[in-house]
Amino acid sequence: MQKLKNYLCDRWVEGEGVQTVLLNPANGEAVAQASSAGIDYAAAFAHARETGGAKLRAMTFAERGRLLKAMSAAIHEHREELIEIGMLNAGNTRGDAKFDIDGAVGTLAAYAYVGKTMGETRNWLDGEAIDMGQSSRMQGRHLRVPRRGVAILINAYNFPAWGMMEKAACALLAGMPVISKPGTITAMLAHRIVEILVERGIMPAGSFGFVCGSAGDMLDHVEFQDCIAFTGSASTGKLIRSHPRVLEKGVRVNVEADSLNCAILGPDVEPDTETFDLFVRDVTTDLTQKAGQKCTAIRRVIVPEAMVEPLRERLVTELGRVKLGVPGAEGVRMGPLAGPAQLADAREKLKSLLAVARPLIGDPDRVEAIGDPEGKGAFMAPLVLLAPSAEAAPAVHEVEVFGPVATVVPYDGSAARAAAISAMGEGGLVASFYSDDRDFAAELIETMAPNQGRLVWGSKRSAASAPTPGTVFPQFIHGGPGRAGCGEELGGERGLEFFSQRVAVQGFGPMLDRLFTTREG
Ligand code: NAP
Repeated sequence: MQKLKNYLCDRWVEGEGVQTVLLNPANGEAVAQASSAGIDYAAAFAHARETGGAKLRAMTFAERGRLLKAMSAAIHEHREELIEIGMLNAGNTRGDAKFDIDGAVGTLAAYAYVGKTMGETRNWLDGEAIDMGQSSRMQGRHLRVPRRGVAILINAYNFPAWGMMEKAACALLAGMPVISKPGTITAMLAHRIVEILVERGIMPAGSFGFVCGSAGDMLDHVEFQDCIAFTGSASTGKLIRSHPRVLEKGVRVNVEADSLNCAILGPDVEPDTETFDLFVRDVTTDLTQKAGQKCTAIRRVIVPEAMVEPLRERLVTELGRVKLGVPGAEGVRMGPLAGPAQLADAREKLKSLLAVARPLIGDPDRVEAIGDPEGKGAFMAPLVLLAPSAEAAPAVHEVEVFGPVATVVPYDGSAARAAAISAMGEGGLVASFYSDDRDFAAELIETMAPNQGRLVWGSKRSAASAPTPGTVFPQFIHGGPGRAGCGEELGGERGLEFFSQRVAVQGFGPMLDRLFTTREG
């Protein structure tokens, strides 16, 4: 069986023993092993900071952009092979695996373009020069410079390709070397991607490290110039934030955690309209794509009381079309969860939802998966619950079942009430609403905005071209307040800010001007 290695100090390092056995979640068979035991993090971080940092800082933004472009192209060239790995180790259907891999390729390409537009310079000015007195002799300006540490990128298991590359794209373009650690149970895909990049020889020395196994004592070695970009559960996020060394050194931490995202149906929307179709499409996609294992998936479906039955009818039809089973088997459109532990966790959390909400569609005790007659796979069938009311079902706003489960919450049709229910989730990554009424939309945007990282307005005018709200675009920020982690990633150039230091530089205006606007790089 393949033993996945770590890539540190520009060479592959085998961890001691076996920490984790990686499975094919569709049948429970072991497919690889991983271990990071025995890694010398102090040496790995030092090499990244010194060698990788110096190499990247010597490059212009446009050069770093070309590096990202080469990474994107290399991954794309291996797309078919990578899809197979996603299907094998992450339980992805072909479509789910493409979503992850194309997300990585597209995000790298988008940041390659950001690098190109930032130009053949290493200077990154933030705003205009500001006069400090009556004349322009004494001026100040804000400058952004790469932090001189290592960017430690810790990812969740659900997007091994995309998750790794969205963080790496921003850090590398900002001029910071990275050490990436994927969620171990699905790390085969991330491992192969790193192998491809290494085989191609496109990464500058020291710029890319990879840990394939548990974090171990990784955080004991951080220094104040390092950055930790984390995606995963709120509980691990809390552990990382409160790590004694992280606190002592004042290390920057960005947390992307879970969120009870909601989709709101406006009171103006009737069944058999384009807007209603879009709403149903989005709820169906988020329940079934990646078997509901998306941080941005719709967990709460907020609908006017009278629309509960029309929605149930449509969802029964749409979900009936989505066949659950072994990825690659005839007709299968939804795969298993990422593994038996993830299935057990989802089932356990489901109990608290079932204590306050009843099944509307699906049976929590029944699962039939094509190609898995003996029930060896980590399959979970889509389940839609109905809460009697928002207040009567507090768990619906607190517990994330990381799988194909959503709860319908009825409301009175007013924007104020919909926003209040949405806010019961105490901070979300994304909220979508579906309405052709501009006043309703305006009120929702105003009231929901402080509680959400992203708002998506679905309407008949956008229906034909609207991506699902769960899709994260590199041009827009990703992250959210409160339980969503209070972090922010991506958003074009904004995504580089976390990996850079803003400094105010004051001095003789014309000299500063010459230094920062005329000097090449
Ligand atoms: P997790 O258990 O919190 O693990 C996330 C990552 O943290 C993994 O790489 C894990 O390594 C690592 N880790 C665990 N303990 C650590 C420690 N003490 N120090 C440093 N790293 C540590 O989350 P998960 O189960 O992989 O992912 C599912 C969760 O992620 C869901 O709640 C989902 O909502 C959330 N998520 C959020 C986003 C977002 O963008 N906001 C995106 C995707 C997923 P091991 O794998 O080796 O344990």
